[in-house]
Amino acid sequence: MHELSYATSILNTILDSINNQDLEGKKVKRVSKINLEIGELTFINFEQLKFAFEVIAESTICEGAEMVAEFVKAHIVCNNCGYEGDLEAKDEFDVSCPRCGSLSLRIKGGKEFNIKNAVVEFEDEDK
Ligand SMILES: [Zn+2]
Repeated sequence: MHELSYATSILNTILDSINNQDLEGKKVKRVSKINLEIGELTFINFEQLKFAFEVIAESTICEGAEMVAEFVKAHIVCNNCGYEGDLEAKDEFDVSCPRCGSLSLRIKGGKEFNIKNAVVEFEDEDK
């Protein structure tokens, strides 16, 4: 299940960036929300990703964080017929030109997997 490796990388990236940031002595209480950008050609099952993350984030500051994803449509240029546009990709083994069926494509969008930002709550924030 490749969702688990994506979930692990999200968790590690967030924990690392929090550890490496100068928080001016403030202590992070928890991460409450994580905003992601996911391209359709990553074929990530978002429900599975959320579930995997929930499991591995347990007892870290990311426990219980809400995950929100913005999905990016696949956008391709066909090297064979020149078609340029969106692609309805059903699975990772069926990525071909919708006009001519060629497998020789340049992918211009849809492979994104980015953590856009995370919302962090600090200890004693309202003091
Ligand atoms: Zn084509």
